[in-house]
This record gives sequence, structure tokens and C-alpha cells, in this order.
Amino acid sequence: MKRYKVVIIGAGIVGISIARVLSMYENFDISIVEMEPDVGWGVSKANTSIIHPCHEEDPEKYPLRARLCREGNSIWMNWVKELDIPARWPGELMVFYSSEDEQEAKKYISFAIKNDVPGVRIIYRDELTSYEPNINPEAEGALYAPTAGTISPFEAVIAIAENAIENGVKIFVETRVINIRIRNHSVIGIDTNRGSIDANIVINAAGLYADYISHMAGVAHEFYIKPRRGEYIVFDEDVDVKPIKILHTTPTPITKGVYAITTVHGNLMIGPTAEDLSIDARESKATTEDGFSYLIREGGRLLKRIPPTLKIIRRFASLRPEPPYGNWLIDAYMEPWGFVNVAGIRSPGLTAAPAIAKYVLKLIAERYDINLVEKSSWIRYRKGIKSIRSIDIEKLDELIRRNSGYGKIVCYCKTVSEAEILEAIDRIIKIGAKPTVDGIKFRTTAGFGKCQGLFCRWRIALLLSKRLGIPLYSVTIKKSQYGLGDIKILLRNKMVSKT
Ligand SMILES: Cc1cc2nc3c(=O)[nH]c(=O)nc-3n(C[C@H](O)[C@H](O)[C@H](O)COP(=O)(O)OP(=O)(O)OC[C@H]3O[C@@H](n4cnc5c(N)ncnc54)[C@H](O)[C@@H]3O)c2cc1C
Repeated sequence: MKRYKVVIIGAGIVGISIARVLSMYENFDISIVEMEPDVGWGVSKANTSIIHPCHEEDPEKYPLRARLCREGNSIWMNWVKELDIPARWPGELMVFYSSEDEQEAKKYISFAIKNDVPGVRIIYRDELTSYEPNINPEAEGALYAPTAGTISPFEAVIAIAENAIENGVKIFVETRVINIRIRNHSVIGIDTNRGSIDANIVINAAGLYADYISHMAGVAHEFYIKPRRGEYIVFDEDVDVKPIKILHTTPTPITKGVYAITTVHGNLMIGPTAEDLSIDARESKATTEDGFSYLIREGGRLLKRIPPTLKIIRRFASLRPEPPYGNWLIDAYMEPWGFVNVAGIRSPGLTAAPAIAKYVLKLIAERYDINLVEKSSWIRYRKGIKSIRSIDIEKLDELIRRNSGYGKIVCYCKTVSEAEILEAIDRIIKIGAKPTVDGIKFRTTAGFGKCQGLFCRWRIALLLSKRLGIPLYSVTIKKSQYGLGDIKILLRNKMVSKT
């Protein structure tokens, strides 16, 4: 059996899912290269986090999107269990306020039937209010889709990465691909800012930059990605309006509508906006006042009341990698042999990612004539970091007796202990990513609460400094180091010396 060296470009939800699926077979020796310090820091980090039922995908216009979305929805129901990914499956309500709106909502019933989405039906005011006590009383009804779920998108990438590593995948972070090497009409590897890597098959899952990578391989010159910005507002956990179901307005030609959801971490989140940006604005993640007013207005249409703005703890924006005509570009090429595009994966890319991965496996096996051999020793399960927030007091007592680190609280807003932070650091090192304060936030939620890290960031940095044996000023927060200036401020306030 020939073993193929596979390099996947991009450790987002798509690239990492492909790595997991390919790692089930003996045929591949898999590496992922990622330009960021950690996995899942691209589009996959910040989105509405919905596992769509897929009744909103037009099966005639976008057959592949519709099919893989529907399949992805089912696969996620298993993957979240296998990989211990935070998830809820409350179902979704597309809310309408007029008979015109109702007609628009009804349009999606035919998509539901064609896409084989179960249980989609229209409900009216009484039933709607019984399903969702937080609904705006002006709502006349909704299209109900029971199979909608919400997951933690960044924890999903981390969980899959950890499982892929267990199954032999290698990850190289802070490694930016700058060239695809081709000889005799076949790919032979990639060049990066850190040197070259040999490969027989190169899979382009580079998110917002997948068009650049495709052009490097001399493929699909007409394919360009346009960024479409989506803004969000996040409220504190303690607000009294937290929808049980996933609520949203009727879709528009460029978006699935504005959502009001309670995230898996218990926050009310409203968003996204949809704003097309110029082709080169791929890092324009600033939030805007127009976006904010729009979200407050649309959120107010969905909910019985919008919590006071004082309760907003975060505003953020993310960019959709919008491909021409909304079509995903998934193809395995013969010229150059071994180059595979998984590009322009706009929404519902999070939902579809596991199904995209299986589709890519089949595609490369058929196109490149690979006789797949399953691994007998493939590891299916992975456990997340034990969180003291979710265990009962007797078990916590026992845990603290065994490891006193569980009794030392580092993040008070989210109740995250020192033991969890240290475990997160070890897990980051194990997958080959770079330990950062942000990386710990995404693994433990420390810093995601009311104070947004104001009180715990330096404590986390201190733990990183001790564990890694580096000075505090060299600890990386996101991409840059803490810096001497900030440390001087901490010392002046005697915060560091108190610990
Ligand atoms: C506002 C918004 C809301 C959304 N809501 C939903 C939703 O609710 N449900 C849903 O199903 N989908 C949703 N989506 C879509 C979903 O988030 C994306 O389809 C999915 O995250 C795309 O994943 P990806 O792996 O292709 O891209 P990414 O996550 O961006 O991963 C690509 C990776 O490639 C890396 N990379 C790029 N260039 C290079 C290079 N030269 N060298 C090395 N690495 C490189 C990047 O750093 C990045 O980490 C939403 C998207 C947005 C923006």
C-alpha cells in the first residue's frame, strides 16, 4: 500500500475535520499547516455557532451545499458526543410578523421536504409562546425546525484537533504557506515562512485566503473570495431574557437573517449583520455603530425585551469567505495532480464541515485511485477539560483533595480554576500549538465573562510564564507578547508581587 503525504492548509473547522476523517485510514500521513499560533482562529472562531437543520438551503440552486449541510447536521449529533464538544439542540424558530412574512417562511417547507429535513412546520402564536416565552408578543408565528443546534465553534475545532493528533496527525502553527511546489504536472509540496514540506496531496482549506492558495497552484483563476462582515453583540450571562430556542428573522438574499440565541456558555447573543466589503478588506473586523443599532432593532423584533445596553459584555465582527455566486469550490485536480480545493466555504460551513470532510475523502480516493484501508486502531473518543463549574459540590470536594489547583479560582466571572488553566496549557503544547492567553480562554472560557479578562488575564499570563519558564513580558496574549509596559503597570499596582 502506498502512503500519501497529505498537507492540509488551514486549521479551521473544515481543514481539521478533513484531518480527522483522513486519519481513519492507513493510506495517509497527514500534516496541517496554520499561519496563526493556534487552531481555529480564522472564520471558525467567530460565527453564529448554529448547526443548521438545512431547510434554508435551496437544493436546486446549491445542491452540494444543501446535501452536505443536511448530512453535516446528522454527523454533528454524533461528533459532539464522541468528542465531548459543548452543544445544545433546542430547535429553531424563523419568526414572522405579517402574512407577507409568513409566505416567505412557508417557502422553506418545500426546501425542507427536498432536503429531507425532519419535523419542519408552521406554528402560530399560542404554540409559539408556549415554546418560547421570550418571544416578542407581536410575532404572529414561526417556521419551526426541531433539528437545529448550537455548539461552541472554537471548542469544536480544538476537540477535533486533539483527536486528530491522537490519531497521528501533525500540526504546524505560525506556518504561512507562500507557494505550492509543482513538478511534472503534480504537486510535490509547499513552501512556507518556516521552510518546505513535501507532499503528494495538498488540500486547500484556507478560509478567507483560499483563493490566494488556489492561484498559487495555478488553479481556478476566476475564483475570488469577497469578505462579508457579520457583527454581533453578546450580553452578560445574568440577563433575564435568554431564548430557549434559536430565534431568527426571515432570511434575505445574502444572509439567513438576524439570530437571537443563548450560546452554549449561557450568554444572549444577537447577530449577525451582513455587509459586503472590498476584496482586500480581509482583516476588517471592526464593529460599527450602524451595525450595533441594526442588531438592537432586529433583536427587539425577536425578543419580548432587549436587556439594557449596560449588560453588553462584548461586540465582535467576523468575515464570511463569500465565493462567486455563493458556490463552494470543492474539487480534486488532475492538473496539477494532487491539488485539492475546499474553498469559499461560507455558511453553512460549520454545519457541513464533517460532511465536507467525508466528501473530500471520497473525492480524492476516486480521483487519485486510492484503495482506502481503515485503521484498526483509530481512536474515536476524546474528553474535554474537566470544568469545576459543571460538577456538583461533593465531587468538587473530592477533586480538590486530589489536586488543590481545582480549589484556586483564577477567573471569577466564569469560575475557572488554576488546575483547568494548567491542563489547557499542557493540551496546547501536546497538539503542537503555541500557548497563549487567548488559547486558554478558548479552552476554559477564562476571560469570557463579565470583566472580559480584566481581572484574570495577568493571572493566566503568570501561570503561563511559570509553566513555560519564560518571563511574564514574553507571554503571548493573542499574537503579540504582554510587553514590558504592561508588566510595569502591574508591578506599580503590586498586582504581580501579591500572587
Ligand atoms: C458572521 C458569520 C456567521 C456564520 N454563522 C454560521 C453558522 O451559524 N452556522 C454555520 O454552519 N456556518 C456559519 N458560518 C460559516 C462558517 O463559520 C464557515 O463556513 C467556516 O468557519 C469556514 O471554515 P474554514 O475552515 O473554511 O475557514 P477558517 O476557519 O477561516 O480556516 C482557515 C484557516 O486557514 C488559515 N490560513 C489562511 N491562509 C493561510 C496560509 N497562507 N497558510 C497557512 N494557513 C492559512 C487561517 O488562518 C485559518 O485558520 C458563519 C460565518 C460567518 C463569518
